[in-house]
Amino acid sequence: MSTVTPMMAQYLEIKEAHADALLFYRMGDFYEMFFQDAVNAAEALDIALTKRGKHNDTDIPMCGVPVHAAEGYLLTLIRKGFRVAVCEQMESPAEAKKRGSKSVVKRDVVRLVTPGTLTEDALLEARRHNFLAAYAEVRDEAALAWADISTGAFHVMPLTSVRLSPELARLAPSELIVADGVQDKLNEPVMDLGISLTPIGRASFDSTAAEKRICGLFHVGALDAFGSFGRAETSAMGALIDYLEITQKGKLPLLQTPLKESEDRVVQIDAATRRNLELTRSLSGGRAGSLLSVMDRTVTPGGARLLDQRLSSPSRNLDVIHGRLDAVTFAADDSLITSDLREALRKTPDLDRALSRLSLDRGGPRDLTAIRNGLTQAAAIAELCAGRDLPVLLATALQNLVGFDDLLNLLDEALVAEPPLLARDGGFIAPGYDAELDEARTLRDEGRSVIAGFQQKYAEHTGITSLKIKHNNVLGYFIETTATHAEKMLNPPFSETYIHRQTTANQVRFTTVELSEIETRILNAGNLALEIEKRLYATLSGGILDKAARLNQAARGLAELDLTTALADLARGENWCRPQVDASRAFDVQGGRHPVVEQALRQQNGDAFIANDCDLSADKGAAIWLLTGPNMAGKSTFLRQNALIALLAQMGSYVPAEQAHVGLVSQLFSRVGASDDLARGRSTFMVEMVETAAILNQADDRALVILDEIGRGTATYDGLSIAWATLEHLHASNKCRALFATHYHELTALAGKLEGVENATVSVKEWEGEVIFLHEVHKGAADRSYGVQVAQLAGLPASVVERARIVLDQLEKTEREGGKQKTLIDDLPLFSAAPPPPPPAPKASPVTGMLDDILPDELTPREALDLIYKLKEAA
Ligand code: ADP
Repeated sequence: MSTVTPMMAQYLEIKEAHADALLFYRMGDFYEMFFQDAVNAAEALDIALTKRGKHNDTDIPMCGVPVHAAEGYLLTLIRKGFRVAVCEQMESPAEAKKRGSKSVVKRDVVRLVTPGTLTEDALLEARRHNFLAAYAEVRDEAALAWADISTGAFHVMPLTSVRLSPELARLAPSELIVADGVQDKLNEPVMDLGISLTPIGRASFDSTAAEKRICGLFHVGALDAFGSFGRAETSAMGALIDYLEITQKGKLPLLQTPLKESEDRVVQIDAATRRNLELTRSLSGGRAGSLLSVMDRTVTPGGARLLDQRLSSPSRNLDVIHGRLDAVTFAADDSLITSDLREALRKTPDLDRALSRLSLDRGGPRDLTAIRNGLTQAAAIAELCAGRDLPVLLATALQNLVGFDDLLNLLDEALVAEPPLLARDGGFIAPGYDAELDEARTLRDEGRSVIAGFQQKYAEHTGITSLKIKHNNVLGYFIETTATHAEKMLNPPFSETYIHRQTTANQVRFTTVELSEIETRILNAGNLALEIEKRLYATLSGGILDKAARLNQAARGLAELDLTTALADLARGENWCRPQVDASRAFDVQGGRHPVVEQALRQQNGDAFIANDCDLSADKGAAIWLLTGPNMAGKSTFLRQNALIALLAQMGSYVPAEQAHVGLVSQLFSRVGASDDLARGRSTFMVEMVETAAILNQADDRALVILDEIGRGTATYDGLSIAWATLEHLHASNKCRALFATHYHELTALAGKLEGVENATVSVKEWEGEVIFLHEVHKGAADRSYGVQVAQLAGLPASVVERARIVLDQLEKTEREGGKQKTLIDDLPLFSAAPPPPPPAPKASPVTGMLDDILPDELTPREALDLIYKLKEAA
């Protein structure tokens, strides 16, 4: 193996230890990749693939990215599913040389970049959290732990394995770690959520080691300090911390103490329901078009993240819900303070993320000023609200904003207004803060002005007016003149003063003793100033981190204020009302609207959304509305809007209605529309039945169930029977509140037989053979389905529409007369889809012959006029 250079040997050794990641191998100002890594990265990043040297007699593929632009490339790679090991030079080439002339610069991986462990603003979405989750199974227990290292949030919950997919859908982590082997057991829904799955060694999940690890991290003797945790929970938390240690190479982010959650704390919503209702993502995958996007009026990233979280996890705790609603009411009633607060919040930077970067030593001066500016705004906000009688939620949030005077004063005095990005450039400590620093800077700056004076002096001395003093990194300060003038300086008496340094093509460069001396002074003073600034940076950063836990609370307080005022602003702006939420089994919405459809209508053509009532209140037993009406009438919209109103009410927001009374909902299920799932190789009907089964098996009497067109995916009688049986099951066994939209009119007969089942319909008007959608929901069954009219609206050929009318008439007539449909089909005259025969050709007239002979392009206007006279004669 004599062909392997020492550098390549080092590369191969490091690569072997990080086989599953792309290795960013630092070489001077570039991160370079080799072999298959280079091939993959070049393709993913669309950069040039080149070669460098040979290995085993074949060329080594190579590509590289400049260090200063690495973040952008990292982001692309992470988005495309890669993990990146960042390998840095741990010493300078000079240091390496000292160890021996052939030594390679020492290198080591300082960090593994994975989707769940990002901290840089450029790599993160500011308005979304970035969770890393760990799933653990210990004997028959299972648990999920999750953390956002960019904000420090850390949670854990026990769960049964069937709840894994819904919980993951709720949290939407970007990365999930599991023990080696477990990934094979995870079912399809989990794999479908688009989460990057990372299997790690089983040792990381060992619950005994995990306990030690957690206690060590939080400096406590026993885990009991944070609550009681089962083995699976401990294992999940321990694995998560271990993984952070592995990826951050021993540097741990600031995690808050673990918060235990339970399954019954929030409304249970499965992945399919979330997708269908487009809560935080639309069906096409983006944020646009989701409920979140139309209701987000927050002005800080922290507030936006909190909104996302609340909307994903509506509460089941009445005290919590009422607390939040009280806060929104206060803010909605006092619009003056709300607008002042929002003004101040707008200027507040992302405290959480600045803090996390400082803790991982990845921060810079701007993170220090982010903390300062955040605390300045926090103080201003506390001032704004002083002396007011605030609802509990807001009072608590405000308490968390005060008590930082010392830290704030310190940062105010120490930092300039707009610091540079990097600590190593200096220039972020304010003048007057540190005497030693001021002195070093003065020396440095004086030196510079002395040099400026030298140029004048030397020009006069030599008589060369064009002489300049310049600076570069190789020579430092030097005097420069053209070759013609240089002759004079190279000879006595001037050569006694001016020492020749360098001759280039056109220029000759000199120095002097006094110039070198002053340069050394400037250099020393400059270096000293940088040293002092670095030291002060560390002290300030340390001072901030000492208060990290309280600063996290302040950030949480600011987010709460932002969310509350944003919801109030939305409620006023969109005319939403405060819902009445209680322990009853009511569901009574008056004048309800679908916020996303409403906004879309407004933007498209300014049409107004028709508000509708819905009353599913039930004292006991089921309360089900059976909704019929033609396609496009607005059934799906009505179904969804009521589900959304329930969720909004329980997340603690006002709702798009005139009035709403919501008895606590524990689970929300929806099966809306037919989504073809060809990618997964399952038929629409199969998906529909799997989801319906889940609902019928799980819904309890506090569930809210939304079913749209169940059974549509199969033959008429099959479909009707399944819809029929499903409705009966919901009524008799689940006893839940439900909205059931169907085009099977036969089902409307059930309303008369089952107590609590009522018919409702969306009205349409027929006018000159066409349907007009009124979008009004009222009690009663639809009289007809209007399918043929809708088909006509959609542009089906007139012959087909006409034929469909005939078949329909016959079918209805036969049904009325109790005839057999089989014979009916036989009786119907045969239909040919060919267009009707053309009308008989008119008898040839002399005019036709004349017309055929005309070549219009060749006629003058005069000839054309003559022709018209002739044609009229002949006709
Ligand atoms: P269906 O489920 O009955 O086929 P949809 O709920 O999909 O009908 O509604 C079809 C379209 O009708 C929607 O895209 C929307 O533009 C409009 N629409 C629905 N409900 C309303 C309403 N209440 N007011 C105004 N327009 C509505």
